[in-house]
Amino acid sequence: MKSGGRQPRRTVVALILVIILAFFLEACQTKESTLSVAVPTRTVASPISSSTRTVTPARTITPSRTTIPPKTATATLHPTQTRTSTFTTTSSPTITLDPNIAPTLLPISIGLIERGPQDQKRVALTFDACEVPGQPAGFDDAIVGVLNDKMARATFFLGGLWMENHPDATRMLGANPRFEMGNHSYSHPDFTSLSGEEMVWELKQTQDIAWRLTGRQPAVFRFPAGKYNDTALEIVAGYGLRAIQWDVVTGDPDPNITAEMILETVKARVNNGSIIIMHVNGRGWHTAEALPEVIDWLRSQGYALVTVSELLGEGK
Ligand SMILES: [Zn+2]
Repeated sequence: MKSGGRQPRRTVVALILVIILAFFLEACQTKESTLSVAVPTRTVASPISSSTRTVTPARTITPSRTTIPPKTATATLHPTQTRTSTFTTTSSPTITLDPNIAPTLLPISIGLIERGPQDQKRVALTFDACEVPGQPAGFDDAIVGVLNDKMARATFFLGGLWMENHPDATRMLGANPRFEMGNHSYSHPDFTSLSGEEMVWELKQTQDIAWRLTGRQPAVFRFPAGKYNDTALEIVAGYGLRAIQWDVVTGDPDPNITAEMILETVKARVNNGSIIIMHVNGRGWHTAEALPEVIDWLRSQGYALVTVSELLGEGK
């Protein structure tokens, strides 16, 4: 009986223990579950939020980095784009020119021009600005005043040394859209007495000075005193410049040549395509005085005043 009485008691005790254990376990489980729920949310939330914070910028950086390759990839996929970019980069050195060195002109055919085409009533007024080292020259701005008043187009053959000594006048001439600038050598030497290298130096110096002062460079050249030889003609053409002489000599460097005489010479000699030579370096004694009547008379005869390059059909 004892044992029989103990058995149910043990069972009861065991049951109670089981129940307690069950409660305990349940309690533990709920704690664990609340903990396990709470902990993951926090741990998950924090890594996610921290990861989204850290990852998001990293992602935006990474995409932006990765968008660069796609862009270059698309650029390479579109040959036009890559060609345009390559073209601009390769051509930019040519466009962004050295402000001190005139761009090289393409060689032209050898020739000497004394007169333009005769099929049209057009005339070129030309003014030389010669200056020899040791002999300072001037600038006759009254000539420019007349040309501006008359809205007349003209060509100025400027010496390199003259431009160096008259930078403001050079800039003013270069900025005038009605005027063409020509090259008249640097030191006004006799080209028949120069070596080929010396000729090139005279041309280059003058082109560079004109370029530096005005951003333009001559396309036409006039030999000092009109003196030349075969080598000179070859070199001038090789340098891309047209050699320009004249067919009407006003003789304005002679103080004895009056304004009336200049006008009479023009009236007697001018023809279609004529190139009239005068001086703007202060040695054209009566040039500015004669010019208004010369221009008026030429126009009254139906002559259009053009630059030398225009006369030769080369634009300005
Ligand atoms: Zn001269």
